[in-house]
Amino acid sequence: MSTTEPTIFERIVAREIPADVVFENERLIAFRDIAPKAPVHLLIVPKTSEYTNIAELAEGDPYLMAEMVTTAADLAAEHSNGEYRLVFNSGSSAGQTVFHVHAHVLSGNLDESSLAG
Ligand code: AMP
Repeated sequence: MSTTEPTIFERIVAREIPADVVFENERLIAFRDIAPKAPVHLLIVPKTSEYTNIAELAEGDPYLMAEMVTTAADLAAEHSNGEYRLVFNSGSSAGQTVFHVHAHVLSGNLDESSLAG
């Protein structure tokens, strides 16, 4: 049994804390980032907490990774103009603060300031 504390995203998946959810299925949940860096800033999060970053997910479950990418396109079409930047921060020095793999979907008049997600 793991003794690590659940991440904030595990708690959102468990509905222990609220989020502005825009999409959910059996494997994924997507919600608005609480500190948006773009006019549209969504997070796509696998419900499993097995994977810390995108490389681990690619190795362990490439189908789920692909589903994150297609979901990003669908959500960008639904919430913006269908054009988007997809960001996966991996490691604290690269800006990752939540160690549960997630995609940032940024859309709508982006500039360089939103590169970090
Ligand atoms: P990262 O820095 O790549 O790990 O991304 C984590 C993101 O989660 C940041 O952009 C935060 O603003 C966002 N975030 C943290 N807590 C919440 C929350 N409770 N609801 C929505 N987004 C959150």
